[in-house]
Amino acid sequence: MKKMQDYMDQAEKVILKTYNRFPIVFEKGEGVCLYDMEGKRYLDFGAGIAVSALGYSNDAYKEALKDQIDLLIHTSNLYYNKPAVEAAQKIVAASGMDKVFFTNSGTEAIEGALKVARKYAFLKDPSKDYEFIAMNQSFHGRSQGALSVTGNAHYQEGFVPVPMRAVFADFNDLDDVCSKITDKTCGIICEVVQGEGGIYPADKEFLSGLRKICDEKDILLIFDEVQCGMGRCGSLFAHDLYGVKPDVMALAKGLGCGVPVGAFVVAEKAAHALVPGDHGTTYGGNPFACAAVSKIFDLMESMNLIDHVRKVGAYLYEKLEGLKESSPMITDHRGIGLMQGLEFNVPVGPIVSSALSEGLILISAGANVIRFVPPLVISEGDVDEMIGVLEKVLKK
Ligand SMILES: *Cc1c(COP(=O)(O)O)cnc(C)c1O
Repeated sequence: MKKMQDYMDQAEKVILKTYNRFPIVFEKGEGVCLYDMEGKRYLDFGAGIAVSALGYSNDAYKEALKDQIDLLIHTSNLYYNKPAVEAAQKIVAASGMDKVFFTNSGTEAIEGALKVARKYAFLKDPSKDYEFIAMNQSFHGRSQGALSVTGNAHYQEGFVPVPMRAVFADFNDLDDVCSKITDKTCGIICEVVQGEGGIYPADKEFLSGLRKICDEKDILLIFDEVQCGMGRCGSLFAHDLYGVKPDVMALAKGLGCGVPVGAFVVAEKAAHALVPGDHGTTYGGNPFACAAVSKIFDLMESMNLIDHVRKVGAYLYEKLEGLKESSPMITDHRGIGLMQGLEFNVPVGPIVSSALSEGLILISAGANVIRFVPPLVISEGDVDEMIGVLEKVLKK
């Protein structure tokens, strides 16, 4: 029988090395735990990078996927399909926005959102070379377009020039953003809670200020809710907590809970910008992926998942505050709902590795921050278990 090490060795031979992976081959998941090939159990506070909101092996979700596999997996966007209509209706109803375009990933959702803003501006005045305002420390994905608005020099290194022009402003600094608006600005893009950049929630005045300036100048406001959306922050979309609506919103990660799917959602004002021929995808919105999206909306409602996130999120907050008080290595604690981060005065790599060997999955966000983005179904008991392991690891 092949061992874990055999698979890891073989992976290094045939899979392009764009990641330094942890030495584990996961084989199955159950509830909020993953199991490796040797049967070792791991409590999961990473959820596959904020994806597996329902945890693992949820029966109702699996049944819906299996039923759809039996019916139909793919047809292309040359035709209509039922799950796509149902999933889009649920997104529209939940967001109060107007139209949905399904993609296969977060980065593609961002690409589409950027195209909407450029085309919206182009329709008003085709003569200008449009640009975006994006935020420092932001993350929007790895395609060249999404990289254009990702405010982290490291990710762009080796890939410049990027195809879209962007100027970067400090997140939560409205004056900085306003000072950078020109007659070429077609869109302002930001995460509502910065994820990869280290778990920084937006300030309320910042988002409402962006809304105001975008309305005044007729610039589109794009919220990247790829990580913070779909219930993670204790409301279906993080911007609901702020009472500020975007013109375009990008979703992915929790949207499919593991089935690869994203979407950009457009408010009525900008829904005319893209017309037949402007944008497309072969897989996007296929019946299989959309059956997942549709089922997730139903389950979030029937399981009362948002209320649960608020409750467990508050519990996690309290426990992490306690940990911060007791550990001089922890310098800050930030976040909302089940999207929280602890900042350390040391690199967190060794803490993450050591937690893994103790059977706890944690992920970092930058060099000094551990982020807590567990499945949304996590219980208070799971939080206690996590805190116990983390305390033990920090003592070492
Ligand atoms: C993960 C992420 C993306 C990119 O999504 P992919 O599915 O990896 O392409 C974009 N924006 C944010 C905020 C993300 O967290």
